[in-house]
Amino acid sequence: MSDPEGKAPDVANPEAAITGWPVDHSRSPVIHTYWLQKYGLSGHYGRRAVPPEKAEAFYKGFAESGLVGCNVTVPNKEAAAKACDILDDAAQAMGAANTLWLEDGKLHGANTDGIGFLRNLDQQAIGWDRKPGSALVLGAGGAARAVIWGLLSRNIPTVHIFNRTLAKAEALSERFGIRVLAHPLDDLSKYLSEAMLLVNTTAAGMVGKADLEISLEGLPKEALVTDIVYTPLETGLLKAAALRGNATVDGLGMLLHQAGAGFEHWFGVLPEVDEDLRQTVLADLGIKSEAKA
Ligand code: NAP
Repeated sequence: MSDPEGKAPDVANPEAAITGWPVDHSRSPVIHTYWLQKYGLSGHYGRRAVPPEKAEAFYKGFAESGLVGCNVTVPNKEAAAKACDILDDAAQAMGAANTLWLEDGKLHGANTDGIGFLRNLDQQAIGWDRKPGSALVLGAGGAARAVIWGLLSRNIPTVHIFNRTLAKAEALSERFGIRVLAHPLDDLSKYLSEAMLLVNTTAAGMVGKADLEISLEGLPKEALVTDIVYTPLETGLLKAAALRGNATVDGLGMLLHQAGAGFEHWFGVLPEVDEDLRQTVLADLGIKSEAKA
């Protein structure tokens, strides 16, 4: 392909991409290509590697990229947010954007990770947010920010964050205010009995990484347990939770649902997250799964 930079977007054949460093592992092209084909739309969704040292210039000069918009992955979400002319509430609250689009000559930025997290639970565990109790969040990285934003938007009264590095949990507590409390990971057992939701946002439990060494003893059986890690689909945490009778939701739906808003901006159709999409992405990941009813 010729150098795509330095050209204006082609609105008749719009092109979007996943941007970040690296981008080879991203499943976003599989998701958007599935929807382009399903809805019979012209357009293309590719990959654009943007090293962090070039991120500021790339997003500030986005109108010259040839793209109508893009997704942004680590480590560029903060740089992308800074380059935008207009940010939605979520991106402002998180200081990070994962979805960009050009509109009337301005660069708009949104953060749809929190919405993706919520829609996944809404689809897989209807009524999860109407149960009494606190939400317990493991981890204090970029994904935790999105999850906390989502939980606060649903009026969950208290969100406890547990992190190996306490200072990072404290920084999130300061960012989000008094409903968010920071704790060292070792204090988790003291709070399990008040949980209506337990969420893992740490990278622990991913393929090739050990599970967190935590016990679920004391967690109410009514509490929902979810993991945003989706390789493997059933992490050690979800397996342990299911064994003791807690309902569980895997993390793949978060990835699928966060993608919809961008697709609508770039290609003009609000797409559906359906079982065929889930199976397409699972096949691409090399994961076998039973189709859900
Ligand atoms: P990040 O900013 O690098 O944060 C990683 C977090 O994991 C930190 O809180 C870190 O603790 C903790 N952690 C890592 N290894 C640990 C271990 N062995 N023991 C205890 N804590 C550990 O990463 P991120 O962007 O938040 O992403 C986190 C995970 O979520 C990744 O696996 C990513 O693939 C997944 N994710 C999924 C989706 C989805 O759509 N399903 C979306 C975004 C991210 P310290 O602060 O102590 O280092």
